[in-house]
Amino acid sequence: MDADAIVVGAGPVGLFLAAELRLAGADPLVLERLERPSEETKARGLGALATEALWRRGLGDQLAEADVEGTKDLARDHGSTRGHFASIHKIVPDPDRPRTNIWQPELERVLAKHAEGVRVLRGHEVIALESDVDGVTVTAGGRGWRAKYVVGCDGGRSTVRKLAGFDFPGTPALLRTIAGRVRFAGDVPPGGRYATGAFMHGGSMAGVTEPATGPEPEVTPDELAAAIERVTGQRVVVEEIQDARRFGDQARQAATYRLGRVFLAGDAAHVHSPSGGQGLNLGIPDAANLGWKLGAVLRGDKPEAFLDTYTRERHPAGEAVLRNTRAQSALLAPGPHVDALREIVAELMDLPEANRYFADLLSGTGHRYDFPYPAPKPVGEHCPDLELRHGDGRTSRLHEHTRTDRGLLLTTGYPADPRVDVVAVTNTGPLLLRPDGVIAWAGEGPLDTALDTWF
Ligand SMILES: Cc1cc2nc3c(=O)[nH]c(=O)nc-3n(C[C@H](O)[C@H](O)[C@H](O)COP(=O)(O)OP(=O)(O)OC[C@H]3O[C@@H](n4cnc5c(N)ncnc54)[C@H](O)[C@@H]3O)c2cc1C
Repeated sequence: MDADAIVVGAGPVGLFLAAELRLAGADPLVLERLERPSEETKARGLGALATEALWRRGLGDQLAEADVEGTKDLARDHGSTRGHFASIHKIVPDPDRPRTNIWQPELERVLAKHAEGVRVLRGHEVIALESDVDGVTVTAGGRGWRAKYVVGCDGGRSTVRKLAGFDFPGTPALLRTIAGRVRFAGDVPPGGRYATGAFMHGGSMAGVTEPATGPEPEVTPDELAAAIERVTGQRVVVEEIQDARRFGDQARQAATYRLGRVFLAGDAAHVHSPSGGQGLNLGIPDAANLGWKLGAVLRGDKPEAFLDTYTRERHPAGEAVLRNTRAQSALLAPGPHVDALREIVAELMDLPEANRYFADLLSGTGHRYDFPYPAPKPVGEHCPDLELRHGDGRTSRLHEHTRTDRGLLLTTGYPADPRVDVVAVTNTGPLLLRPDGVIAWAGEGPLDTALDTWF
């Protein structure tokens, strides 16, 4: 064996998963196609669940530092720092479940540093994969690499997904957007919705959305100018476009995230429109969910079947995001009927309870795992970064106690259990947390059932 697990792709999800596997005592190997990290400015926002996952591993200060500039960029480009649903910028963020405004290349630098020490082989594109009863062999860089498991974190066009034969059902693109950092000469039409599409322009970024037509070649300045004219009716001169990209809103996810020894995580498992910035808020929790479980199986602490809980928990989370991004696409389509619907949704967002509903939907904090034992809320939810009070009057935050791959019992007097770490608190709990921050028990029903299930 060359490694316990091979992670294909050193994007944000692959890097975080590799670090989680190392934390769980495993020996991961990352194979990445690109010679150097990508500078593509895709994501600029990290949702609450992804932010909290990184805080739990001690990356809070670095995220907070990046967030200062990121928030300024967001305010400049969107004219608002509120969250949005289908570009209706009215969602008041939940102060207890914060997002981070960080550009993806910066995030990848933070995660690469976090994963320092893990073997990452760049310039190694995976081109073949074979699974047998003992392990998996993947071919990259002119040789075969063998491990007990392989995880495809190789993005939306995942080679691992195709080579392993995962089904990838879903809906095709309804809308397509072309965007980039653009330098215009002369006047630019106002951003907003038009009869046949939408035009967005703020800071150096510009993008235009129209109904999808099918596969297309690389974006050129002339193509962008023509699309802006089609939508706004105004002729513009695009002098330069950098970091140009086109993206659609197809919404698909793998029918299962595991086929034997092969797993998928991040965009390899699910693709959807970037509306609301949710890709990493799914992908990072995928990695957090899979990392400690794979570690436990590799150590022999848990049977293989334990790994099936990964699909059982994460597939519904992916489905929830596919659903809300499809709804956003419907609300972004051009036309007077959609204009009317948008007005109604915008009015609904003025109601505090509805606003909270949208905030929970987009942050993923409203989603709950279905566990194999009966337990009321908040069991199955991701725990926020609670402030904890201790008997001696000290306070701390939850993330200060979560630097290992072990479970954590916040106790107000329950007896300690050697399988998990214990922190005595006076203001909350009792709560049993899994290493991925999910609440496994909250005082009702036997603690032992939860401990036996997860540890
Ligand atoms: C315009 C835009 C805006 C977005 N905004 C947001 C946002 O604000 N918030 C948010 O959460 N998400 C956003 N997203 C989505 C986000 O960018 C993705 O969810 C994220 O990149 C997924 O990370 P990943 O690690 O799963 O995949 P990727 O980032 O795609 O990384 C995959 C890696 O695998 C490598 N690879 C691919 N094939 C192979 C192979 N065969 N062998 C070896 N390596 C391979 C690639 O080179 C790459 O490094 C946005 C996306 C777009 C397009």
